[in-house]
Amino acid sequence: MSGTIDTIRTAILEGAPGDEIGALDLPESVRGALVKADEQEMFAGVASEDKDPRQSLHVEEFPLPELAPDEAYVAVMASAINFNTVWTSIFEPVSTFGFLKRLGKESYWGARHDLPYHVVGSDASGVVLQVGNAVRNWKPGDRVTVQCNHVDDQDPTAHNDSMMASNQRIWGFETNFGGLAEIAVVKANQLMPKPEHLTWEEAAVSGLCNSTSYRMIVSQNGAGMKQGDAVLIWGASGGIGAYAVQYVLNGGGIPVAVCSSPKRAEMLRAMGCEAVIDRKAEGYRFWSDETTQDSKEWLRLGKKIREQIGRDVDIVFEHPGRSTMGASVFVARRGGMIITCAATSGFMIEYDNRYLWMNLKTLKGCHFANYAEAWEANRLIGDAKIHPTMSRVYDLDQTAEAALAVHKNESEGKLAVLCLAPEKGLGVLNEELRAKHLDQITLFERFE
Ligand code: NAP
Repeated sequence: MSGTIDTIRTAILEGAPGDEIGALDLPESVRGALVKADEQEMFAGVASEDKDPRQSLHVEEFPLPELAPDEAYVAVMASAINFNTVWTSIFEPVSTFGFLKRLGKESYWGARHDLPYHVVGSDASGVVLQVGNAVRNWKPGDRVTVQCNHVDDQDPTAHNDSMMASNQRIWGFETNFGGLAEIAVVKANQLMPKPEHLTWEEAAVSGLCNSTSYRMIVSQNGAGMKQGDAVLIWGASGGIGAYAVQYVLNGGGIPVAVCSSPKRAEMLRAMGCEAVIDRKAEGYRFWSDETTQDSKEWLRLGKKIREQIGRDVDIVFEHPGRSTMGASVFVARRGGMIITCAATSGFMIEYDNRYLWMNLKTLKGCHFANYAEAWEANRLIGDAKIHPTMSRVYDLDQTAEAALAVHKNESEGKLAVLCLAPEKGLGVLNEELRAKHLDQITLFERFE
């Protein structure tokens, strides 16, 4: 290893063939966004909303680790902010160094991850630089996106639905060497073909959120939505919500899109949602104080939904958690499903169980996606049936600012981060498909 990152960047930008890319020397170290173990107590006693990722998330050089036989080095052209980047940077609900320690105990290769720093990021688009000697389906020069399901394929529990694997992890959150860096280390079974009608940054934003929403809405492992189903989508203009909206519309469902500003309501209408609820304008107060929920407010939301679509929703796409779960369980129709993948506002949940059991509703947990689901979700992007929701583009050095915007709920859709791409707008190979769908691809950016 003695190459430079500039040589790699230039080769990619000039479209060098795979054998030339594969022959490039890699640098000893690269830059990436990381948190430090010796700073994990820095926010002790600070309220969540006041914890500032700009204090904890640094962009620094780190040494490239040795490559395992089933892995690839990927030159990251662009990456994206996910809410898990926020969680890592504010050390909530737990510090991610515990995950790295546990992984470190598993094997020789796992031990590489247990370091006093954690390079974060669970999305990437880029180019394969080198592959380990057990990798069969990918080679240097391949243009890829990355899905973040990190599983050990020698674990038998990983061979039905790999999200059920006992050692399933989210890359760049529960593992080191994530996507917010110049070079990332990924397992070969995280790689997927880059949608070629998209720029590097547009291609980088979908892996995590799009796959999560696919599993939650479309997959039988999630809600398995059918045509005509009505779906209440919290945070409908946010990271996972804006993909959920697209899946509901594509699948012949009826989205009831919740947001918190007139701008977001307008974006959702532009996406094709007819039923939109601005929760801020409606002034819902599901909790009258820290310990008491107000069922009259649940009723008011239910009434609003009926006014808009004439009936109750079949599915609730739930992720805010503590602030909304009581209402979500209440408003789902008799026999309906509340599918949840998160708890942004708090994970100690309270709902009135009578509404669940007496009305035969199902509360179902869901988490990311297996490789097959992520692959199908990526293919839908590649076929331009689902579109990226990128609203802003940051440089790698501005990663912490981008994470702060997500933490403060000040952004819509997805925030992209340029890693090796020197500017936005590069990387498109299929101009014809792009031209056909340009309005939808750029919808979120146009609202900025
Ligand atoms: P995001 O881009 O910040 O969007 C979340 C949206 O939720 C916000 O735009 C906001 O929309 C709404 N929201 C926030 N707090 C709320 C509250 N108290 N009540 C009602 N709505 C609220 O985040 P994201 O990427 O969509 O992720 C959302 C959550 O899912 C995060 O906790 C994340 O960690 C989790 N997640 C889990 C998985 C998984 O695999 N398990 C995958 C992806 C994400 P409005 O203000 O406009 O209503």
